[in-house]
Amino acid sequence: MAKLFIPGPIDVSPDTFAAMSRPMIGHRGAEFEALYASTQPVLQELAGTTRPFYLATNSAWGVMEAALQNLCAKKVLNLCCGAFSDKWFSVAKSMGLEADKVQVEWGEAISPEAVKAKLEEGGFDLVTLIHNETSTGVMNDLEGIAKVVKSFPGVLLVVDSVSSFSAVPIEMDALGVDVLLAGVQKALALPPGLTVFSLSEAAVERAKAMPNRGYYFDFVEFVKNGEKNNTPSTPAISLIFGLQHILGVIAAEGVANRYARHKANNAMIHEWGKRHDFKNFAPEGNQSVSLTCFHTPAGWDQSAFIKTLKAKHGFVINGGYGKIKGLTFRISNMGNETPETMQELIDAMNDVLG
Ligand SMILES: *Cc1c(COP(=O)(O)O)cnc(C)c1O
Repeated sequence: MAKLFIPGPIDVSPDTFAAMSRPMIGHRGAEFEALYASTQPVLQELAGTTRPFYLATNSAWGVMEAALQNLCAKKVLNLCCGAFSDKWFSVAKSMGLEADKVQVEWGEAISPEAVKAKLEEGGFDLVTLIHNETSTGVMNDLEGIAKVVKSFPGVLLVVDSVSSFSAVPIEMDALGVDVLLAGVQKALALPPGLTVFSLSEAAVERAKAMPNRGYYFDFVEFVKNGEKNNTPSTPAISLIFGLQHILGVIAAEGVANRYARHKANNAMIHEWGKRHDFKNFAPEGNQSVSLTCFHTPAGWDQSAFIKTLKAKHGFVINGGYGKIKGLTFRISNMGNETPETMQELIDAMNDVLG
């Protein structure tokens, strides 16, 4: 069996799988309510919020699309800098919403000034931001962008922290983020299928006034059921067992230690890249700490490297995503990885490089 060092889904620990294999419980009862309630404190600590967290049975795109459906009454501004953020714009368009974008080249970060200039054109009531653009390894300036968005009254900010949640500190309340969402198959190191999200009071108020919210992705349903430590429909209970387990692991390690570990893991891969003259695709100052995206050097057989790494050492890295597939490669260092396990990967990669 090969071990994943791709930026999602990532390696899941045997103790997490064991936690997930507990006998099933009904979701309308005290046992489930206790399970749900137990997830709240650490999720809130990771997000820097006192607001409740909701557990949605779907991958991240479910809540990304739901945020548009529940919150865009006028016009959404999508901040586009890579595969996931660009797609959020096309999803908004495909829903028939009024949408505009700030677009930068893949590999660049969104500048707060560009967001300000666009919002000054007027008419917007929602902004979408991908904190950590997993396709390019770019970490956007969440604080700077949030500050700008907050200076425009009536404009809500949705933040996808899918590949940054639990890898770096996020201050949802202090920054005034209105929706914070994360799929669990990235830094939370769970199998895919669950998305955790939190809503500001303003987001809840906006949703209540929106027509045509449907049911499965209705934020107001999540709020109503959340008040009783429950979910609108039958949730992925096994994944929530896993979530409870991993949040316990995070609490035991301490969030500050967890953030420091991600930084240390990431620095090792950056060092390795420098040693072999692999250039970072993301600019200095906006580099992700949960994964690294490297340019593929001209004339270097990236695909042979990746194949041999897997065949000989059982480690899987990623050969680029979307339109930069083949032109870049990506290595994840998030979740349960440690300097020791990163060193195993580095030793294996060095062996393949010869
Ligand atoms: C992986 C990823 C997604 C996609 O999530 P799904 O779980 O496939 O729906 C969205 N945003 C970011 C930043 C991601 O890394």
